[in-house]
Amino acid sequence: MQTLQKDCLPISQLDFWIHPVSVDLPVDIHVPSVHLQKVKIFLQEHNIPFSVMINNLQVLLEDEQAEMEKNRIKERSSKSLNFGAYHDLYTIYNWMDSLVTEYPNLVSKEHIGLTYENHAMYVLKFSTGGSSRPAIWIDAGIHAREWVSSATAVWTANKIATDYGHDSSLTSLLNKMDIYLMIVTNPDGYVYTHTSDRMWRKTRSVNPGSMCRGVDPNRNWDAGFGGPGASSNPCSDSYHGPYAHSEVEVKNVVNFIQSHGQFKSFISIHAYSQLLMYPYGYTCTNVPDQAELDSVGRSAVNALSSLYGTQYKVGNICRIIYQASGGSIDWSYDIGIKYSFAFELRDTGRYGFLLPASQIIPTASETWLALKHIMEHVRDNAY
Ligand SMILES: [Zn+2]
Repeated sequence: MQTLQKDCLPISQLDFWIHPVSVDLPVDIHVPSVHLQKVKIFLQEHNIPFSVMINNLQVLLEDEQAEMEKNRIKERSSKSLNFGAYHDLYTIYNWMDSLVTEYPNLVSKEHIGLTYENHAMYVLKFSTGGSSRPAIWIDAGIHAREWVSSATAVWTANKIATDYGHDSSLTSLLNKMDIYLMIVTNPDGYVYTHTSDRMWRKTRSVNPGSMCRGVDPNRNWDAGFGGPGASSNPCSDSYHGPYAHSEVEVKNVVNFIQSHGQFKSFISIHAYSQLLMYPYGYTCTNVPDQAELDSVGRSAVNALSSLYGTQYKVGNICRIIYQASGGSIDWSYDIGIKYSFAFELRDTGRYGFLLPASQIIPTASETWLALKHIMEHVRDNAY
């Protein structure tokens, strides 16, 4: 048998879906087929147990493409958006316009700036009126390849619009507070996952002096910036960027949140791993509101599980994933937004980032129960 040293492993060509952080946590790695043997031998020689979750990623990619094409034909004839399908950026943007047209007294669209590649960044605002009302922020798709996150946000936008006036809990919430929902927080990256590389995670900014593009937009916030769990290597998928808020997409959200000034909750939606997390990630120290956030999180997850039995873990980022600096919900918490949470939606790795479209509506429906629970708590616990 061939003996391989650690540095013979083509680490830079392995795509870590779940990053290595501690010896007792598993990692998910997408291995290009040319490196399969080397990686297998390395793992065996080091007695690292492993199993194969996805045998051939290409098959899933092709299935996803075929599904989208079939759906495009269907949507062309029905002239309506199928919530159980993945869509490209401008299909989502056009649909947002139609939602605003359909619900003009509840939904509006705010332009919060341009991306690095000059795509518009839009936030949907759900409001029944009033001025400087307390508000809830929800963003999705900050990591480009986490498609189910944005697909869930599309479904959620429609749910909020259609349930207002029918669901008494949501109605009372919207009579007191506004909800802001950003469906695609990393538009450049999202477009790139549709045109060039389905597995892209970062922004698309050029890194001076490097061949590699992009910054991890969830390591770029001014919260323990540059600390553990973020990379200083521009080629890394968790590259934190040259300085905090260097990414215009992050900066646009930061400016929007700060100038609004009334956000009481900040919820960021990712995939995958089935987790509901609260701060901190940049340090393993408990936040002052640990007990309350943990209890809200646990009840939210119980509500989520009640629909299909999907199991979630709850905890602070540092404890249930790993120490990760520069994350958005640490930033929001540190500027005084107490109810800061991050979701990692389905699944736990069977399909990973390539969650089949047939799971979008079930994922969104169960997530809604958790979101609603958090939002009700925010409504009833003014601060
Ligand atoms: Zn993510």
